[in-house]
Amino acid sequence: MRHNSNQTPPMLRMENVSKTFGGVAALSHVDLDVHEGEVLGIIGPNGSGKTTTVNAITGFIRPSGGRIYFKGKDITGKKPHKIADMGITRTFQIMRPYYSLPAFKNLVIPLFSPRARRTGGWRGGGNLGDRKTIAIDILEEIGFERDSYIPFKTTSTLPTGYLKRLELARCLALKPEILICDEIFSGLSMSEIASMVPLIERLQDDGITIVMIEHRLRELFQVANRVMVLNFGEKLVEGTPEEVMADDRVKEAYFGSEKIEEVMTYA
Ligand code: ADP
Ligand code: MG
Repeated sequence: MRHNSNQTPPMLRMENVSKTFGGVAALSHVDLDVHEGEVLGIIGPNGSGKTTTVNAITGFIRPSGGRIYFKGKDITGKKPHKIADMGITRTFQIMRPYYSLPAFKNLVIPLFSPRARRTGGWRGGGNLGDRKTIAIDILEEIGFERDSYIPFKTTSTLPTGYLKRLELARCLALKPEILICDEIFSGLSMSEIASMVPLIERLQDDGITIVMIEHRLRELFQVANRVMVLNFGEKLVEGTPEEVMADDRVKEAYFGSEKIEEVMTYA
């Protein structure tokens, strides 16, 4: 049913969204609802359209067809800064921090944005007077060691684990309603991934609606309430992690027999 006015609209709705690049269909007629407060996982083989989905939602590409709604408002084709200002932020698979700056200064810029001014930053305190302190508070909350020198280190000298956390911090500085993570676990060690799972759970507890694109299925299935599987730009299956793992189409199209056994044993 579409836009029933008696019902709260979903946080995010993709309606028949397609994207072609020079005749190649990166995304074909994808419908998706993301509900308030949930963690929705998006999985699929390389090239299946996951990042294209993120780019379409966040305005980095314009869909060739279909509409995208945020809390019932049509945001299709809006510019990325407009969409971020409305409350949808995303991490980049290929990170783009200011490498030459101290880590915390990467947050000073989002903390000066109109949205941060309106919302008062992540915790919504309202007083953004001391942005340096707020930046360091955010970094400490997402796992930079408290009272350490790490927030002050030049960004380029930080290991990947910290850069991934910095990507998240940059999003959180805007006090997002929807946070979209594009493979934030990739390039991390098993122990680093394990330490990020509780962080994602904490953000969900904070009321943030989360969309996670992930290759790391074990960890994703720990935190995701529902999962959408993409294959060749089409939605193959949507359901709970258990439903998705049990689906023969998913096993065939995506996992390969060994990997699904491993995942299912774990579950
Ligand atoms: P995933 O994130 O699932 O690995 P992508 O969404 O990045 O996949 O890509 C989906 C398909 O669209 C791939 O075939 C990719 O080569 C193609 N594609 C993505 N972005 C572009 C682009 N800017 N120009 C041309 N083709 C693209
Ligand atoms: Mg991708």
